[in-house]
Formats: sequence, structure tokens, C-alpha cells
Amino acid sequence: MNQKTISSDARVAVYIRRSRDEDGIGIEELLKNHRQRLQVFMNEKGFEGVEWFEEVASGGSIDGRPEFKRLLSNVQAGHYDAVAVIHEDRLTRGDEEDRGKIKNIFKATGTLLLTVDNRIIDYNNPTDLLTSGFTGLMSEYEKAQILRRFRDGKITAVQNGTPHSGTTAYGYTWDKNTKTAEVVQHEADVLRMMVDWYLKDGLSAGQIALKLNDLKIPSKRGGFWHSEVVSTMLQNDFYTGVVYYRKYKTEVDFVNDVVKYTSKLNDDPETVIKARGNHTPLITDYEHAEIIKRIEELRKYKSKDRRVRKNTYRLSGLIYCPHCGLCQGLMRRKGMANRTHVRKCLKKSTRRTPECDDTRGIREDYVFEAVKMRLQQYRDTLFAPTEPSDDNAAMNSLSRMIKAHEAAIEKARKHFDKIKEMFMNDIIDMDEMKEEKQRHSDIIKRNEAELTKLRMNKDFHDEERKEQQRKLWSSDDVERVFNNELSDSEMNDVLRLLIVRIVYQFNDEGGVDIEITYR
Ligand SMILES: [Zn+2]
Repeated sequence: MNQKTISSDARVAVYIRRSRDEDGIGIEELLKNHRQRLQVFMNEKGFEGVEWFEEVASGGSIDGRPEFKRLLSNVQAGHYDAVAVIHEDRLTRGDEEDRGKIKNIFKATGTLLLTVDNRIIDYNNPTDLLTSGFTGLMSEYEKAQILRRFRDGKITAVQNGTPHSGTTAYGYTWDKNTKTAEVVQHEADVLRMMVDWYLKDGLSAGQIALKLNDLKIPSKRGGFWHSEVVSTMLQNDFYTGVVYYRKYKTEVDFVNDVVKYTSKLNDDPETVIKARGNHTPLITDYEHAEIIKRIEELRKYKSKDRRVRKNTYRLSGLIYCPHCGLCQGLMRRKGMANRTHVRKCLKKSTRRTPECDDTRGIREDYVFEAVKMRLQQYRDTLFAPTEPSDDNAAMNSLSRMIKAHEAAIEKARKHFDKIKEMFMNDIIDMDEMKEEKQRHSDIIKRNEAELTKLRMNKDFHDEERKEQQRKLWSSDDVERVFNNELSDSEMNDVLRLLIVRIVYQFNDEGGVDIEITYR
């Protein structure tokens, strides 16, 4: 945006100002921060013989700022090519009259204004003037000023090696006094375990989340773990000891006339500030690189080994008619939108009912998005840690009983072998052996009957099924469903692994009810 440059032999003055009303927030520290940042900036630009003006002023008027007055008369005398400040607002505060006067002096002498975010403001340039603090409404100006101060504080913090807020990654806690992220040892141990699981044991993020939930280890916020949380955590290079400012940028979008903000990685290296942090690293650079490599490979999967079948849609073979229970077909509609549609029930079987005629087709993406959302919810409940409840206690005693019966059977079988051995060694005679054999086979039969009864218990089945489902749902493929990284036919393969059938029906309110039967 700003094409102007300024050579390193320019004559430069620096102006630093804090107002007394900022006193409550450590004025000395703030001054030091500004001094430090401007010094870094001056060094970067290679300016020499820089003149420094610094003051703690009360109020915005020129009269209340003696150092500024001195600077301004120097500017008027044409002493400088440029004046550097933390931000333009350091110069443009005050009433209309003062601001007009300052602007005119800079304009008349052609003195440029430099700001630490690398802006060069030329008041003879109409565009610069338009975007400068000298125009616009005062209220907006004031608002922007507050935001800028906030941002300036964050930049300084990053340059000083501290993250710019009190929220720190899992494994650390924020120490207000030292302004450093201090290691929380038990969390750091968990992180270590996660890195090993990921890199050494090759577990997926989903499997790691599952393991952590099984071990009843709470997440940062005290809840349960998700694959996304694990994946984001493993990729966070804060753990390697770096801090950032503007690592992410916010993008504004309009979706159905609603403003939507999305946070994205800032890919403009010019605006990202990265610095070595003061905190203890928990992941080595090498490990971090390995983690990123594996995640990249997961993404690259997209282009290699694709299983692409023609005429297979994402929901092929999954949607069933609520009336005859037969499968509904899908087709690509030719035309402008080129959308995929689920067709109404057209099966001409003996099972066909009159209601089948009343079924309606539906847009495939509509059903797909709804299904995806439901899958997400289902996964959440599947991986939620089981609360200690009465049900759970009953479940535990049930599995204890099952184990006891299994042990009794095992013991009786071993005894069986022993009886044979005793007979061979003439310790017992034939009758005794027969009697013992009978006794133990009765024990086995009794226990097996009990076991069958217990295993038929619904709770036991539910829990066992849940366990199997958890295994199924923690695969990399399921993660790809949520990351939209699959072709239509691949998506169909994974969905068929998780879902038996989807039934949709239009309800009286004009909406659609969707029922999913999971495997
Ligand atoms: Zn039907």
C-alpha cells in the first residue's frame, strides 16, 4: 500500500509520549516498552544521530507538552526529514486547533511521519491525509486509539518474549508476576505422552483423544478431548519456545447476509512478528517438524491413492424409503446448478406401498450437511467420558461378575487336566477320576449358563458396542470426513462403515426429519 521509502541517512527525531491518565498501568514500564520498540525500529532502518524527545504529559494540548513544543519548533525550522512515533495518535491528539497547527507544520516543511508498523505518512499526499488521524470523526478516532494501544502492548510483549495474553497453551500456566508462561508439570507430562503416542506409536489424533478420555485426564478446560483439539495442540509451535503477534488473521465473510468471522493463519510474513519466548519449550524443533510432516502427509492423501469410482455419490446406498424400506437412488441433475439429488422412492417391488408414491426427492447436500452435523454430535457423545453414576456402578459390578465366572471356568478346566494326571500317576483310581470329572464339568456348565445370562444383559451389550464403535470412530478416515478431505466415493466408503441407514421424511412444519441408524 505504501510505496514510499526513506533512506538511512535521513535526519530523524523520535517522539515518545505517555499521558498521566495511563498512570495506573505502570507508566515507567510503558515508556520503556515504547523506547525499546522505537530503538529496534531505528536500528532496523539504520538511522544515525537520532534525536529523542520524551515526556509524560497531562492532557493533549501542545501547551501541556513542553517536549513536543520543542520538537515542533525544530520541525518548523526544517531540522528533520522525518519524525518517528509509536503511532500517529501520539502526534495527533489534542483539539482541532492544535491538530490543524501540527498538520500544517508537517505539511509546509515536507516532514514525514514514521510509525513503528512501517507506515510513512506524507501530509502532502492526499491519500495519506485521508487515512491519517487528522480526519474522521473524533469518536471513531478515539475508538481506534484504544485498539491501537492495546495492539502496541501486545507487540511489545511478543518482542519481549512473552505471549501477549494470559491464556496459555495446555502444559503452562500464566504467572502474573513474572509475565511468563510457567510449566505445569503434570500437564507437561501428558503432552509428552501425546507426542510419543503420535510420533513413536503412530496413533491418530482421534485415538489419542480416546486414550486421554479413557485415562480420565481432563482437557485444558476440564472437558473431554477431541481429535481437533489434539491435532491443533500438537501443531502449536508455542511448545517449541516461540511467541507470535498476528499469527492469525480474521477474515470477514457474508454467508446468507450474516457476517461470519473466520480466523486463518496469517500468510503475510511482513505482518507476523515472531520472537523467541521466555518460556521453557516442551517440544523440540525436530519433533515439531516431524509432527507437521505427518499432518502434511495426511493432507496430501488427497492427491495420491485416491479411490475414485464414477457414479458413486457420498450418500449412495445409505438412504432408505421410510415406507417400503428399500434404497433410494441418487442422480446428478443436469443444468445450471448441476446438483446431486436424492430421488423419491421408485422401487417397483412387491413391498411397495401407496405411501411410496408420496415420497419426495431432496437435495443431496441438504441431507449430507445434516448427516455430517449429526455425526459430529454422535462422535462427541461417543467420546464423552462416562460419568460415575448408578448405571456405571451397576455396569462395573456386572463386568466384575462376568470376570468371576470366567475365572471359575478357567480354574475348573485346569483341574480337569490335573485329574487326568493324578489318575495316570495312580494317585486316584478310575471311580475317583470319573467322580471328579463329573464334579468339575458341572461347575463349568453352571458357570457358562450364568455367563450367557449375564452377557445377554442389555447394558453389557451397549457398553461393548460402544467400545467397538469408539475404535471404529477414532480412525484417520473418520477425521477426514470432518475435514472434507475425501472424494465422493471415499466419503461413501467411510460413511458406510459408520452408518447402516438414513431415513428422511418431510414433516408438517415444512422441515425434514432425518433419522440415522449407526453401526
Ligand atoms: Zn418405498
